[in-house]
Amino acid sequence: MSEFRETLYAGYAQALSVDEPIYQGNTGQQEVQVFRNRRFGRVLTLDGVVQTTEADEFVYHEMLAHVPILAHGAVRRVLVIGVGDGGILREIVRHAGIEDIVAVEIDPQVVELCRELLPNHSAGALDDPRLRLVYADGLEYLAQSRERFDLILCDSTDPGGPAASLFTDAFYRNCQQRLGASGILATQNGVPFLQPEELGGTARRLADSFADWGFFHAAVPTYIGGSMAFGWASNSEKVRRTDLETLRQRFTKSGLVTRYYTPEVHQAAFALPRYMLDLIEAGLQRDA
Ligand code: SAM
Repeated sequence: MSEFRETLYAGYAQALSVDEPIYQGNTGQQEVQVFRNRRFGRVLTLDGVVQTTEADEFVYHEMLAHVPILAHGAVRRVLVIGVGDGGILREIVRHAGIEDIVAVEIDPQVVELCRELLPNHSAGALDDPRLRLVYADGLEYLAQSRERFDLILCDSTDPGGPAASLFTDAFYRNCQQRLGASGILATQNGVPFLQPEELGGTARRLADSFADWGFFHAAVPTYIGGSMAFGWASNSEKVRRTDLETLRQRFTKSGLVTRYYTPEVHQAAFALPRYMLDLIEAGLQRDA
């Protein structure tokens, strides 16, 4: 039996047994591997980095989608950047009030491979009539778009490779311009314990572009190294402070059945441990 070894960080690695090899190839943009692991089910890796597994994807996708959607309360138009496996679309389409979804992906082959090999992730959401799938670079799409969104979700890979442009000043500035008055941007922002520069660097960029910004966090087992951070930014402070009673009412009304998200977890996720607050402070000062 072979083993997949992720060597994203110097001096620390994660290993998963490849109990059933399913696919290995190169899209021309990224190296893709799909295999089955006895503990995590089907696993997708891009450029040697674990992107998602069947067993723990619910944590990431529920938090990235439901936290901003329920905080906002009236999301109609959504832009998703980085479609990949389609797990984020599966969670978005569960909200009946959402009317329009634009999803921008740089690598069509990843989407088609995942549709076939990880069907439980998208669970039909790629065929939802509200979805418009666009194959383009996320930053380039934003730069030419004149549309307004209530929510922008950046479900990207890490900043190395094709996603580098999604962690730049230009990206956050463009997002700010495409959001309505109480619109929200939520992003995947890596594991701060092992990717400390990413948290501080994003904090500085968000602070430059948005009236209100912050981070929330959740532990996704195969994103090793502790809690991962999600970036949050809005033109309005109100949405981040949506009270617990309102979240409870919206959650009940939505009819969502979740495995990770609860309104209480939602609120608690914005309370950051001291080491993350210190990294944010250091980033703001470093780049000031
Ligand atoms: N949803 C997954 C999870 O559970 O964490 C992982 C993210 S998904 C695999 C990330 C996608 O972002 C990939 O399909 C990748 O091709 C895409 N991507 C990377 N850079 C991009 C860019 N600049 N514009 C649009 N999509 C991009």
